[in-house]
Amino acid sequence: MTLRARLALGLVIIAAVFVVPLLVARTSLQRLHGQVRNLREGEFQASLILGRLRDALGDVRAREVALGVVRSDTVHQQLLTALDLSDALTDSLDRHDGLDGAARRIRRDLALVRPASELEYNAMRAGRSAEADSISQRDVVPALHDADLALTPAEQVLRTRTQERVLEAEAALGEAEQMSLAALGIALLLASAISLWLTRSISRPVRALLEGMRAVAAGELGHELGYKSDRHDEFGRLALSFREMSNRLAELDKLKAEYASIASHELKTPINVILGYVQLMQEGIYGPLTTKQLEVTRTLEAQGRTLARLASQLLDVNRFEAGGGRIDPRPVKLKSMLDELERTFYVLAVQRGIKFAIIRHPGLPEEVRWDPERINEVTGNLLSNAFKFTHDGGRVELTVEPAERDCVRLAVCDTGAGIPPSQLPHVFQKFYQADNQGAASAQGTGLGLAIAKGIVDAHQGQITCESTEGKGTTFTLVLPIAARNRPGSDGPLTPPGGTPG
Ligand code: ADP
Repeated sequence: MTLRARLALGLVIIAAVFVVPLLVARTSLQRLHGQVRNLREGEFQASLILGRLRDALGDVRAREVALGVVRSDTVHQQLLTALDLSDALTDSLDRHDGLDGAARRIRRDLALVRPASELEYNAMRAGRSAEADSISQRDVVPALHDADLALTPAEQVLRTRTQERVLEAEAALGEAEQMSLAALGIALLLASAISLWLTRSISRPVRALLEGMRAVAAGELGHELGYKSDRHDEFGRLALSFREMSNRLAELDKLKAEYASIASHELKTPINVILGYVQLMQEGIYGPLTTKQLEVTRTLEAQGRTLARLASQLLDVNRFEAGGGRIDPRPVKLKSMLDELERTFYVLAVQRGIKFAIIRHPGLPEEVRWDPERINEVTGNLLSNAFKFTHDGGRVELTVEPAERDCVRLAVCDTGAGIPPSQLPHVFQKFYQADNQGAASAQGTGLGLAIAKGIVDAHQGQITCESTEGKGTTFTLVLPIAARNRPGSDGPLTPPGGTPG
């Protein structure tokens, strides 16, 4: 699924998830609305009718009394209107169930009142007041009183029912609130889970890409991204592009190293020719030289030798890099290797009056698996530097001892110029030279330690440096007894010292 589709899907799901609590709340509110409507159309309306009926019956009573005093047609008419209204309200009340037969009872009473009040009115008009009074006391007043009494139990029933309905509505409201809150909680949880999934699915590859970019910038061109490149989204395509980019960079790096290796190799021949002619001139083959000319040829020779060393070291470093940093580990007799080193530097030590020793600790393996030429290059360079920066009469030592995790530790220690602390972290960078060149017995190139580090890394070992300015320096190598090529290092292995092309 593409990133855009995943984002859209995630947002739609989050929106849908939040619609659920809304639906739950809506259903609950609808139910509540129904209950309120029932209350309004049922209990409240019935209470209203009961009140109006009580008023209408009171009106009938008042008109009947007034008729006894006034005996006019108008009051008679008003009595009939009040009776009609009472009848109509009784009919309305009858439409509400469960009011203990109040409507029936009132209708029966009104049915008695209507003819009795007619008879009473006729008796009054005929001047038979005693008869009219007796009709009123016997028929009209008891019937009206009974109708009035019938209203009370109905009102009681209504009060109870209203109370029940209000309680029910209250319970429904509480339930609706709880359900909405629960639905909202679940929706929040789901939305958080989806957001987390979305964020993780985006942030993980972004972080992996960032790390990849950093690794490539730091020169680790074979870096593998922390996720698969067969993903069917934008990150899959990015991973493919990333791999293409680092492969291409690795190719270019190799090409550059090959090119530089060839160039530095080609430089060696003319430099040697120049040095040869300078030597011949110094020996007077082309005629005697003046003192000034001799001085110039010495400078030419010194510069020529620096150039030759630079070309040779450039050749080494580029050849090693062009070979993909591969080593050729094979069994090496440690003792013979150290004896050879001792022999090589013995003469120099005697010439310079420097105390030189190789200290071998017990427990060393007889045989190690290293790339002997490369390791010789490293130890040779460290010892050369130690001699170069140590004044005549000083001391240089190479201590060799077993180290933890099947390793061998080699420490080259001198009593030379030392390196300023702020410059110590840079000594393994290509072409870096510390501010102690005045103490060096010969001019250098700043490449030796960079080559040494490359070789030690290729053996999956470690090289570190400790130094005290003015007191001396110690370079320590820790190499596995059985070295293997680093995973990911590839490319053809150029034989050391061999000529390319
Ligand atoms: P160089 O050809 O200049 O010796 P290296 O890469 O071998 O190049 O060393 C880099 C720099 O590290 C040197 O120029 C020097 O400043 C410092 N250095 C290396 N070894 C020593 C040492 N034993 N004592 C003091 N300084 C050293």
